[in-house]
Parts: sequence; C-alpha cells; structure tokens
Amino acid sequence: MIVRAHTDLVLAVSGWEAGRDLGILVGAVFWLASAFWVFKDARRRIESPWLIAVATLFGLAIPLLGPIIYMFFRPPEYLDDVRERDLEIRAIEERLRQRSLECPVCRGAIEASYVVCPICTTRLKQACAGCGAPLEAIWQACPYCATPVPSLGSYGEGVAGGLEPLRPRRQATSD
Ligand SMILES: [Zn+2]
Ligand SMILES: [Zn+2]
Repeated sequence: MIVRAHTDLVLAVSGWEAGRDLGILVGAVFWLASAFWVFKDARRRIESPWLIAVATLFGLAIPLLGPIIYMFFRPPEYLDDVRERDLEIRAIEERLRQRSLECPVCRGAIEASYVVCPICTTRLKQACAGCGAPLEAIWQACPYCATPVPSLGSYGEGVAGGLEPLRPRRQATSD
C-alpha cells in the first residue's frame, strides 16, 4: 500500500517535471524564434548592420516583450519598397525633365542635341560651321572643334528660315 502510494507520487512528480520541462522547452523555442523573427524583419527594414544587431539583441534580451517593443519602433517600410519608390520617383523626374524639352513653336518633343525641330523645322540652335554640332546661344566657340562662333545673339532670326543650311548670319538674313 505504502509502496503503491509512493509509486503514484513518483509518477505524479515525474509527470509534473516532464510538463514543466516541456513548458520550458516550448518557451525557449518561442523565445529564440521570436528573436530570430526580429533579426529577419530588421534585416528587411534596417540598412545598418549595427542597428540590426542591436534590434536582434533587444529581441533576445527581453524574451517575448522585446520583439513586441521592437514592432512599435521598427521602420514602417521595407528597404525594398523604399528603393523601389526612389527608383520610380527618379524615373518620373527623368520623364518630366525630358518632357520639358519641347519645340517653342509646335510643342513637339525635342532633344537637347537637335538643331532644328523635326516636326515644324523651326531652327532651335545654331549649328557649328566646323563640325555641325548644336551650339548654345551664349557659346563663343564650338566646344567640340574649337571653331569660333561667327556672331553672337539672335539666332532666332533664322527661325523663319526653317531648314536652310547654316550660313554666316549676315548673309542669311534678307535685309
Ligand atoms: Zn516644332
Ligand atoms: Zn564644331
């Protein structure tokens, strides 16, 4: 009788111990898993390896509560999303910048290297007499072939002339 009671007690105690061990094991696994989750999540949101390490240690140091606190303070966006958005913004800016180049007469799309508008043949820039490169209005000499630009100023007079080849300006204008 005594032996049996003793056996029951041993079984009960060992059962309780097994349950307690299992609880500790589950808790430990959950603790490590949550710290690992913090590490994985921080890596996707934080660029600095030091801050990722700090966040992970924080998740490890304060079991279960650490990861929850981390969730309150983590950066709201994934790095991938931030980069993607930056790329999109840059692409939009680039598109706007290109769109801003348009023919002053017909509003057709032009490029910085155009000498005349291909749509309405408006002369947009003077072409270099030496190499034919498009010249900015204020340039005194061609930066590509060093040919001096013959006359300063109103290349706009050539606008009416449309596609005519570049001649010295005094001759090109009909006085
Ligand atoms: Zn045009
Ligand atoms: Zn030139």
